[in-house]
Amino acid sequence: MRILIWLRNDLRLHDHEPLHRALAQNADVVFLYCFDPRQFGETAFGFPKTGAYRAKFLIETVADLRRSLRSRGSDLIIRQGKPEEEIVALVETLNIDSLCWHEEATAEETNVENKVKQALRSRGTAFKTYWGTTLYHPDDLPFEILELPEIFIQFRKAVEKEVQVREIFQAPAQLPTLPENIEPGELPTLSDFGLAERSTDPRGVLAFKGGETKALARLQHYFWDTNCLSSYKETRNGMLGADYSSKFSAWLANGSLSPRQVYAEVQRYERDRQKNNSTYWMIFELMWRDYFRFVCVKYGAKVFRKGGIRNLPIAWQQDWARFDLWREGETGYPLIDANMQEIAATGFMSNRGRQNVASFLTKNLGIDWRWGAEWFESLLIDYDVCSNWGNWNYTAGVGNDARGFRYFNIPKQSKDYDPNGDYVKHWLPALVNLPANKVHSPWKLQPVEQKRFEVRLGVDYPNSVVDLQKSVDANQQKYEAAWTEKK
Ligand SMILES: Cc1cc2nc3c(=O)[nH]c(=O)nc-3n(C[C@H](O)[C@H](O)[C@H](O)COP(=O)(O)OP(=O)(O)OC[C@H]3O[C@@H](n4cnc5c(N)ncnc54)[C@H](O)[C@@H]3O)c2cc1C
Repeated sequence: MRILIWLRNDLRLHDHEPLHRALAQNADVVFLYCFDPRQFGETAFGFPKTGAYRAKFLIETVADLRRSLRSRGSDLIIRQGKPEEEIVALVETLNIDSLCWHEEATAEETNVENKVKQALRSRGTAFKTYWGTTLYHPDDLPFEILELPEIFIQFRKAVEKEVQVREIFQAPAQLPTLPENIEPGELPTLSDFGLAERSTDPRGVLAFKGGETKALARLQHYFWDTNCLSSYKETRNGMLGADYSSKFSAWLANGSLSPRQVYAEVQRYERDRQKNNSTYWMIFELMWRDYFRFVCVKYGAKVFRKGGIRNLPIAWQQDWARFDLWREGETGYPLIDANMQEIAATGFMSNRGRQNVASFLTKNLGIDWRWGAEWFESLLIDYDVCSNWGNWNYTAGVGNDARGFRYFNIPKQSKDYDPNGDYVKHWLPALVNLPANKVHSPWKLQPVEQKRFEVRLGVDYPNSVVDLQKSVDANQQKYEAAWTEKK
């Protein structure tokens, strides 16, 4: 029995059900990772679909997986091409009896999956799919996915009460060797995808490096070596430094870290060290991650549409000039500009930052939220289709729990979460001389203050692109008009 495991966003050996089941059958297991050129094209609005930060992280991840497989006696077959074609070629060359893989939730991924299934069916080759991307298994939920509650809190309460997280599968110690008649294939480089290497910006929160080995090391660091887990709930809204939050997202996104592994470690930590609000909150956040994945299953392609899952006909602006100011970090709002410069320079942004910049784009600039979602898709190291599009739906007011027009007061957020202005000064050197009580609203600086603090508005730092309150009021009217039209 020879089984081919098609690896996708499950680039790990721990907690890997298809691998575990194949080995349990004493099968001769062969592993494939396929770099699909469609993932390296352009987004609908013309951004690189997988930018250099994530592409590099992915290449590192695949390299790490190959090393792990080799150290266990096997290897990873690497191909560049469409999975539906590469898989069929391998099935023939290697006399594969059966295939297995982890299912995905969203349209592009399931389309590829369907093409693979079609090709296998027409050849009469068996296959089996598994679910392994969430903490909770969809078969264990107390409702059908199509009945998923519209409000997160209802989902959370139901799963917490009624669902057990399944046990993790241990990584195997030894694996069968790769058949000799196969060329394992070269690891691609960034230039194969038309991308240029970006040097690591020392101002970034973390020098992210891809792979299961680094993922497990980060878990060890955050929970056990530094004890950061014990104060996670208090620090998680930070923006500066490696340890205010876990930074697990990048590894979770490509599956080099399993959410159930994180859960198992939280449980061990609670047993061996401490159980408190912070340990609970780590799981709470992973439930958000689950929720958005199930939302994507429930609503399918609607999450990518302009009207979002609520199908709300908001008159979004298609204003490229203002969008450019947003994405280049030149809006004149320090919290927005610092965060947008951070993501452009590093491929990462804190959760607090993401919420604010998304609110500003949609509630102050009134620009089509999908542009923002695609810009994030292009840049983020931790891009996860469900978490990204789900969160953007939510923030733009077209997603779950659309409870009226809610927006972030940017200067207030800046004062609350960056009281001394350390974060904004870190990314915006022009503001470095401003005292804490001036740094969050530079547009209020009088000429004499500009001189004293050596920052000329419109020269060293931009004037604000919109008036905070007027822009919110105008966009609120559009939002309410859309609800009226929908009714
Ligand atoms: C507009 C917008 C876009 C986003 N895009 C993505 C994305 O593409 N990929 C992504 O992984 N997260 C996304 N998030 C969610 C969140 O910002 C990141 O998961 C988090 O900042 C990652 O840092 P961390 O791992 O240190 O998080 P921690 O605070 O340490 O949280 C632990 C884990 O919980 C999960 N999590 C935390 N918050 C959320 C959330 N709001 N939604 C879903 N999962 C969450 C993540 O897997 C995270 O790694 C987005 C949020 C917003 C507002």
